Amino acid sequence: MKPVIALVGRPNVGKSTLFNRLTKSRDAIVADFAGLTRDRHYGNGRQGRHEYIVVDTGGFEPDASAGIYREMAKQTQQAVAEADVVFFVVDARAGVSAQDHDIAKYLRRLSKPCILIANKAEGMVEGVQLAEFYELGLGAVVPVSAAHGQGIRGLVDAAFGLLEIPEPDEEDGAQESPDVIKLAVAGRPNVGKSTLINTWLGEERLVAFDMPGTTRDAISVPFERNGQKFELIDTAGLRRKGRVFEAIEKFSVVKTLQAIESSDVVLLLLDATQGVTDQDAHIAGYVLESGRAVVIAVNKWDAVDDYQRQLLERSIESRLSFLKFASLHFISAKKRQGLGPLWASIVQAYKAANCKMPTPVLTRLLLEAVQFQSPQRAGMFRPKLRYAHQGGMNPPVIVIHGNSLEHVTAAYKRFLEGRFRKEFDLVGTPLRIEMKTSH
Ligand code: GDP
Ligand code: GDP
Repeated sequence: MKPVIALVGRPNVGKSTLFNRLTKSRDAIVADFAGLTRDRHYGNGRQGRHEYIVVDTGGFEPDASAGIYREMAKQTQQAVAEADVVFFVVDARAGVSAQDHDIAKYLRRLSKPCILIANKAEGMVEGVQLAEFYELGLGAVVPVSAAHGQGIRGLVDAAFGLLEIPEPDEEDGAQESPDVIKLAVAGRPNVGKSTLINTWLGEERLVAFDMPGTTRDAISVPFERNGQKFELIDTAGLRRKGRVFEAIEKFSVVKTLQAIESSDVVLLLLDATQGVTDQDAHIAGYVLESGRAVVIAVNKWDAVDDYQRQLLERSIESRLSFLKFASLHFISAKKRQGLGPLWASIVQAYKAANCKMPTPVLTRLLLEAVQFQSPQRAGMFRPKLRYAHQGGMNPPVIVIHGNSLEHVTAAYKRFLEGRFRKEFDLVGTPLRIEMKTSH
């Protein structure tokens, strides 16, 4: 599971600026997708080998007359509770405020790794101005400048130092059987996640098996179906009760993100009776951002009439247009309808995500595509696409080399993507196309 960093602090200290810094690397990847709902409060970040999830808890907005516990929004408390490490951000220029003291008091009582960060510290002489922050009782203060990108690297290193995450070693790698597809069922509360999972687990064709490293109480169920092994990984918002799962009331975005991130394939569940809600679109956005393979299933299909079905199909088309590479199923978990074909799509999406694309085939496809329709000239420049190779898997990345490639339009990229997808049967996985211009 990726560790979670929660950003806490009063308004205006620079949390969202820091958030953007910490999640910057991933933003570029999803910038291309139209219609993607972005939730600025949760994001993925990476520094070297270290990958993490960042949560911006927003402002504390304390009301002077009330205690900090009441003032903290429930969301903030939940985010802090779920975090592995807390970044408490203060303003190096403004100095210590009463609100900072309140927040510090709250954080000191939680025994959770916490890093005190003095932001806006660009050009300040360390030690002189920052000494006063020691009175917050949270130890050394780390000066950074979120706006100028100073001190961020050290911050992430410090966080991972506190977490004591074991170095991945070969033994761990060996335990992970590539034959097991890790599946996460994601969706907002009440879409029918637990009903679906219980229906699955009650099926005779589904055989539970023992797998090393899976504990009984964690929601992680290995099972086999038609000779294919799956592991249902810690699915957000569910709790195991004996042999069945039940939904827990509190929906957790962090748990959803972690489940998505640890999976190979995400089954995104929607509720036919509710249409595509903002929360669905947010979750779908996380799935896209994660780069995971995805299958969409609209549940409760039994409970809607033809007119509602039409509306729903249209709203999926418009609101989830960025997931149109995913196959779409209409099911009823309760009535056990449409469940069989889901498995085929899940396996298909997994295979697509791990597809191997040989350089000669990619290059041939590229040149054929160019012959069929060459990229538009942009002023003096005509992009020249020369060859392509695979730059990564899961999700697959195709790197195209040539000249003046910065002038290749988004529409042309989509045209190429379509040709590649068709050739390799890439249903259910995102596909990234990168352009490498040589001058
Ligand atoms: P938040 O309310 O805590 O999320 O704070 P914001 O990220 O919105 O930042 C508040 C203000 O501080 C904005 O005007 C930022 O441009 C500014 N700011 C953020 N980081 C820095 C920094 O490192 N140095 C300086 N000088 N200003 C910063
Ligand atoms: P979760 O919060 O996503 O785990 O949702 P639940 O599995 O607890 O289901 C929420 C509600 O939707 C329950 O009342 C279920 O009985 C109902 N439900 C689940 N699947 C279906 C279905 O396929 N059709 C209908 N009509 N109701 C369903």
